[in-house]
Amino acid sequence: MDHVLGLKCVLCGAEYDVDEVLYVCPKHGDEGILDVVYDYDLIAHRLTRERLADDRNSSIWRYADLLPIADPNLAPPLQVGWTPLYRAEKLEKRLGLQYLWVKDDGREPTASFKDRASAVGVVKALELGRDVMTCASTGNAASSLAGLAASLGLTTYIFVPRTAPQAKVAQLLIFGANVIMVEGTYDQAFDLCLEASREYGWYSRNTAYNPYLSEGKKTAALEICEQLGWEAPDRIFVSVGDGCIIGGLWKGLKDLLALGFIDKMPKLMGVQAEGAAPLVRAWREGTEEIEPVVLNTLADSIAVGVPRDRIKALRAVRETGGEYLAVSDEEILDAMRVLARWAAVFAEPAGATGFAGLARLVREGRIDPEERIVVLVTGNGLKDVASAIKATGQPHLIEPTMEALRRLMGRIGV
Ligand SMILES: *Cc1c(COP(=O)(O)O)cnc(C)c1O
Ligand SMILES: [Zn+2]
Repeated sequence: MDHVLGLKCVLCGAEYDVDEVLYVCPKHGDEGILDVVYDYDLIAHRLTRERLADDRNSSIWRYADLLPIADPNLAPPLQVGWTPLYRAEKLEKRLGLQYLWVKDDGREPTASFKDRASAVGVVKALELGRDVMTCASTGNAASSLAGLAASLGLTTYIFVPRTAPQAKVAQLLIFGANVIMVEGTYDQAFDLCLEASREYGWYSRNTAYNPYLSEGKKTAALEICEQLGWEAPDRIFVSVGDGCIIGGLWKGLKDLLALGFIDKMPKLMGVQAEGAAPLVRAWREGTEEIEPVVLNTLADSIAVGVPRDRIKALRAVRETGGEYLAVSDEEILDAMRVLARWAAVFAEPAGATGFAGLARLVREGRIDPEERIVVLVTGNGLKDVASAIKATGQPHLIEPTMEALRRLMGRIGV
């Protein structure tokens, strides 16, 4: 790993060797999230835009030179990353925009963005010679870890809050994870998991704790820019819970700027649910301190009261000139319908929340129609069909006769 210079604490700036610490800055306990520091001069000799153009590897491992791993041959066999970036022409027309792309990370192997982080997590476990991993999750990080671990034969112990949707729990169980359901919130499950990891020596996949996971998440930003021919978009809209995705995107964009692959920084637009919006409030108040909130949203994947990656998440938005905004559950359900009907992408509630933020700003007349905009869809709608049915209502139900069909057609005006 000669391309990795070390790990740097986001709170105090202290730097460590990669062999020196496992997870967080020793001076700050669980709060001292570390950021991986790269030797861009060295990387620039190994990785060029031309070399990438010739690389047939369509997964996150095409960017192995920019990832904190020693040996890409340890990569899991599942295809992670290089998800489609669709030009959404029907949606452009509806919204009055000229350039809109949807990146569908519901197409990852376990159907959420979390696979990007889990893939790096399992490789780190192998490098460290660990064969038991753990994480706490509202669902997707867990099902993702369970799937990636299964692909390499690793054992997992997974903590989920009781409110995790059934489909995600089903994924855990079918991938063979040891599932521990906690009678409490995600935040409580997270704290319990950290203690368990210390007590039993399990390798932790918790984002904003394990420093390598957001490196996996940054690959989405690398892909977006490469898929756009290295012309960075003006804005990227993404849903935010713990803040690891948005922090990871920022890291990826900084990497590309440092290497000269892109020449401007897109504005990062963080979208939270109104019923779980501590970062929106902190951003408005100009602070990095979080006031815990009472959670109330159907977007379970972003129902986070204390965002673990708050520092990176807030700086990502501040330093790119972006914005934090909150949308209601009604706006999220509407975004699910519109995305599916006009871009044919079926998102879970948190997966559609970034788009709900864009829709809000368009309604408020705050988007220039000529801006080049990317919306990230972070999770597949089949993860939470109850919410989809809530968004659409039930289908028509009739007797199996033409007479009944004609009556229905009359009623709905066909
Ligand atoms: C985890 C998750 C998010 C939020 O990511 P954070 O890193 O917690 O901000 C958004 N959408 C989906 C579907 C997720 O699973
Ligand atoms: Zn520190």
